[in-house]
Amino acid sequence: MSAVTDAPGGPGQRVAVITGGSRGIGRAVVERLARDGHDIAFCYRADHEAAALVEKEVRRLGRRVLSRRVDVTDRAQVRDFVTAAEEELGPASAAVTSAGITRDQPLVLMPDEDWDAVLRTNLDGTYNLCRAIAFPMIRRGGGAVVTLSSVAGVAGNAGQTNYSASKAGIIGFTRSLAKEAGRHGIRANAVAPGFIETDMTSDLPAKTAKEMRGRIALKRFGTPEDVASVVSFLVSDQAAYITGQVFQVDGGLAL
Ligand code: NAP
Repeated sequence: MSAVTDAPGGPGQRVAVITGGSRGIGRAVVERLARDGHDIAFCYRADHEAAALVEKEVRRLGRRVLSRRVDVTDRAQVRDFVTAAEEELGPASAAVTSAGITRDQPLVLMPDEDWDAVLRTNLDGTYNLCRAIAFPMIRRGGGAVVTLSSVAGVAGNAGQTNYSASKAGIIGFTRSLAKEAGRHGIRANAVAPGFIETDMTSDLPAKTAKEMRGRIALKRFGTPEDVASVVSFLVSDQAAYITGQVFQVDGGLAL
């Protein structure tokens, strides 16, 4: 891994851009990458208070931070966010797309707006960040992209046709980006978590949670930090020869 300097734009400087960095997995990724020595630009949709706490923590860790309220479904906002991040912090060496939502319904009851919201946020949001950041990374000859998929995108999940479609789409997108941009030094990998304890999974009924835990080889839900440590590895030079892969972080759920 290259040495890190605090000098903006100095040799070894690392800057990570993360969507959905105010809560859950995205927050854990922000804090882990800051601890690893990255300056951080992250965005969130609405929860300003949560974002302020994360910002404070990154500063406490001695890294520079830019946080912005950005809706990842809005292409122009995402483009402006990337531009601001690079102007303020320097060239981005890593990008992580963690912003995501669920709107679970059986297909026959699925409101069109729930289909649209999930696809727009999860899949278009991933495209929007990568579209904005890929060209600058290609021009500089390197960068690491990590997308957040899900075991639901690998295996499917009843009641989640919208979510599973978005997360399967992210896998196809990531593999294609890896093939397309590898020659320019860009690596792109997906992480597919199983059940991770965040706000997204907090409303699981106790009985369902117990059943789910029983199906997991390690007999526990994952923590956001369990996912963040894999992201940390994937954006590091230790993963220099890994691209186009999908890493299931599910405690053995899918075995
Ligand atoms: P979470 O706790 O609900 O946090 C979601 C984050 O995304 C928040 O920071 C939220 O910001 C942001 N966000 C949502 N919509 C956005 C938008 N339109 N524009 C910008 N930011 C937006 O979710 P999580 O559990 O950490 O999930 C993170 C990622 O991992 C998601 O892609 C999810 O699909 C994936 N994943 C999670 C699990 C799990 O078990 N938790 C499993 C598999 C995959 P605000 O708070 O401001 O709205």
